[in-house]
Amino acid sequence: MPDYQATYDKLCAHAQQTAQLSTTGDILGWDENTKMPPAAGPYRAEQLALLAGLVHERATAPQVGDWLAELADSPLAANQQSDAGTVIRELQRSYDRKTKLPGRLVEELTLASSLGQQIWGKAREENDYARFSPALERMLKLKREEADAVGYAECRYDALLDEYEPHETSANVGRVLQSLGEALVPIVEKIQGSSRKAPSQILEREYPTAAQEIFGTATAKAIGFDFDAGRIDVTTHPFCTTLGPRDVRLTTRYNERFFNSGLFSILHEAGHGLYEQGVPSEHFGLPTGETVSLGIHESQSRMWENLVGRSEAFWEHFYGPAQKAFPQALAGVPLEDFHFAINESKPSLIRVEADEATYNLHILIRFELELLLINDDLSVDDLPAEWNARYEKYLGITPPNDADGVMQDVHWSCGLIGYFPTYALGNLYASQFFEQAQADLGDWKAQFRQGDFAPLLGWLRKNIHSHGQRYRAAELVERVTGAPLASKALLRHLSGKFGSLYGF
Ligand code: ZN
Repeated sequence: MPDYQATYDKLCAHAQQTAQLSTTGDILGWDENTKMPPAAGPYRAEQLALLAGLVHERATAPQVGDWLAELADSPLAANQQSDAGTVIRELQRSYDRKTKLPGRLVEELTLASSLGQQIWGKAREENDYARFSPALERMLKLKREEADAVGYAECRYDALLDEYEPHETSANVGRVLQSLGEALVPIVEKIQGSSRKAPSQILEREYPTAAQEIFGTATAKAIGFDFDAGRIDVTTHPFCTTLGPRDVRLTTRYNERFFNSGLFSILHEAGHGLYEQGVPSEHFGLPTGETVSLGIHESQSRMWENLVGRSEAFWEHFYGPAQKAFPQALAGVPLEDFHFAINESKPSLIRVEADEATYNLHILIRFELELLLINDDLSVDDLPAEWNARYEKYLGITPPNDADGVMQDVHWSCGLIGYFPTYALGNLYASQFFEQAQADLGDWKAQFRQGDFAPLLGWLRKNIHSHGQRYRAAELVERVTGAPLASKALLRHLSGKFGSLYGF
């Protein structure tokens, strides 16, 4: 009998060393986005490309395929949810995906992505869709090739979605998003029809950067982010990256004339960071020490940003300190006014500026369109008109130009097709998890009011973080909440919150 344990140990050591190499690239990427002087760009791109090539080579090495083949029918793989079963199952999945793509296609995709992004940047600046459309056309052709090479059961889009939300299907996502969209449109109409208006100008007063930094850091610490194993730096587009088992980097940006930018980016990225700090660090570089999917990741950021960070109970604790930190802006402003202001909802053109109620409609529009594009049911030339028609249908507004319409997001230009749904999935998972957490935690509002977030974080650690990739997203949701993913919890949250704010 082969020595399965020895083979398994070799497989794990190889994967963990590959993680050492890829996180070395991530350090360069973090530096590029936070500290690097602009002139260093071209050499940094070469360093990153070399490392990416080495990581790909290691991850697709034939010996990995041999080890996985040997282990496939071994007793170690028998229980899919044991540590070894999880590692073998998920490494096999990623090995298959990577080795199915011909080297030529990988190179073409890398090139098309970098060129596409450059062309998109110029085209958007000049509001010139005709300049962007050939690059988009080419990208779609390559993504169809990618889907065909990877393989799929029902439709091409599934193969692309699977990269970001493993094992999820477009049929299931479509069902949930459609039911969410149908119920959201009347909620958004009621908000718009309300005579109550959020006093949002409160948020546009003077918020000095130094005070925002201190307040934001203290808030991240209070919700449980471990600064011995992480830090916050400033960037243009906030992100969270993990550079090692005890090294999680958050980034944010500060706008002295808009309170939400800094703090809610910190809460969002800290939500990602708490998840990264909560997976078992001794399994770093193995599926048992990695997060489940982009959707589950986004559920953690959205929970802390919106369900916790925009709740009344949270601000009953933090509003006093906020008034002390920003006396010119907030002295004499009642808590209710501040709470209404940070929860203002109105249909807007730009996804990244959208509020909790309208955000998912932006995603539904993109999901419908990319599905049509990948299936060749919509031409690139007809895309802007279809985009505008859907903004009118779902949000009651028509973009005045393509730059603020169909060209507003970078995603399609660099080949991120199948990625958008994970944002909405994040909101859906977050609400469903949070309802369950509320039921399990007892008087959670009293805990928040006292600034005690340890019970919620402990609940997330136990039910979600500690499992790594042991359960697939759909299994995890059912296991934790007793029901499959649905739109009900998010709709209950949105109609409850905005109903009481806007009086319907
Ligand atoms: Zn996020």
